[in-house]
Amino acid sequence: MTVLVTGGAGFIGSAVVRALRAQGRPVLVLDLLTYAGNKSSLKAFEGTAGFHFVQGDICDTALVRALLTKHRVNTILHLAAESHVDRSIEGPESFIQTNLVGTFSMLRAALDHYRAGTVDLAKTFRFHHISTDEVYGDLGPHDPPFTEATPYAPHSPYSASKAGSDFLVQAWHHTYALPTVITNCSNNYGSHQFPEKLIPRTLIRALQGLDILVFGQGTNVRDWLHVDDHARALLQVVDQGHVGQSYAIGGEAERTNNQVVASICRCLDQLRPRSDGKSYQTQVRFVEDRAGHDRRYAIDCHKIRRELGWQPSITFEAGIAETVQWYLDNEDWWAPLWDETR
Ligand code: NAD
Repeated sequence: MTVLVTGGAGFIGSAVVRALRAQGRPVLVLDLLTYAGNKSSLKAFEGTAGFHFVQGDICDTALVRALLTKHRVNTILHLAAESHVDRSIEGPESFIQTNLVGTFSMLRAALDHYRAGTVDLAKTFRFHHISTDEVYGDLGPHDPPFTEATPYAPHSPYSASKAGSDFLVQAWHHTYALPTVITNCSNNYGSHQFPEKLIPRTLIRALQGLDILVFGQGTNVRDWLHVDDHARALLQVVDQGHVGQSYAIGGEAERTNNQVVASICRCLDQLRPRSDGKSYQTQVRFVEDRAGHDRRYAIDCHKIRRELGWQPSITFEAGIAETVQWYLDNEDWWAPLWDETR
């Protein structure tokens, strides 16, 4: 039985594929290869037995149905999405289309497949929807972290589209008994992240001698999780999580944007010192804040710890150093994408 990973050519999707392949599991990736998808992130698996890649749209229900049958899929990890908040502010249409209509399309195809399946398929089938902590809105400096019980209060077109897709998944479980699980994760970082996001953008701009742009005063707080820890959590939830449940996942590593940028600058100062001997920190420039910028996100991940024994294993400091080194070593991966972002 095959695991279908939608969005498998993206940042987190490609980490999930690496984790699944490390367990020797057959994987089918369905990815439209939008600007954010990159087939080269999967090149280690091309041509290997048990790995298949299809370029296609999750909104194409007939295609998804056919793939589920052909590849005997019993597990769906649904990651395909439009994922960048700034783009959702400039052009929300594709977020509604992919995140809402696309998830609806996936659910319809999955339900048909589940209902038409054998007894074995019915026992093992899972539809795992990968979502974000941004559905919960934002926190004040002294508020307790988000839990699975926190009411949804999305603020951006991105988080609203993700919240809507979470509700669709819940409805398909309650109304049609589709075996679903949902995870809501905090900000991820690590290798293969598209250069428009804070961490790769900061380190690439630093290396190129450009201003390092920080929104507002740089005081917004995010809870950072290494992408490999996230991928490990996803596999535990899809294999052992309770059907119909959601799990909040976080890194227990709250950092302000200023702290994140300072960590990156410190790593670069050590690994690739500037020729004038100054710190990269001198390149930081504060710019007008993002519209409706959420102040703070933080996750209480007691439930996944208690039920599944998962916890983050990579400290932020170690993970950032490894990530900076990866971008230094893999300019051929990011350089073509960097040109696209400017
Ligand atoms: P990403 O933007 O790097 O990758 C998204 C992938 O989806 C790309 O490969 C893209 O080509 C593909 N895609 C987009 N539209 C598609 C469509 N219509 N059909 C098929 N494929 C399509 O995103 P990411 O950061 O890897 O995030 C993956 C998922 O995890 C998203 O659902 C996101 O909401 C969620 N998430 C991300 C974070 C984070 O910090 N990045 C945190 C929590 C949750």
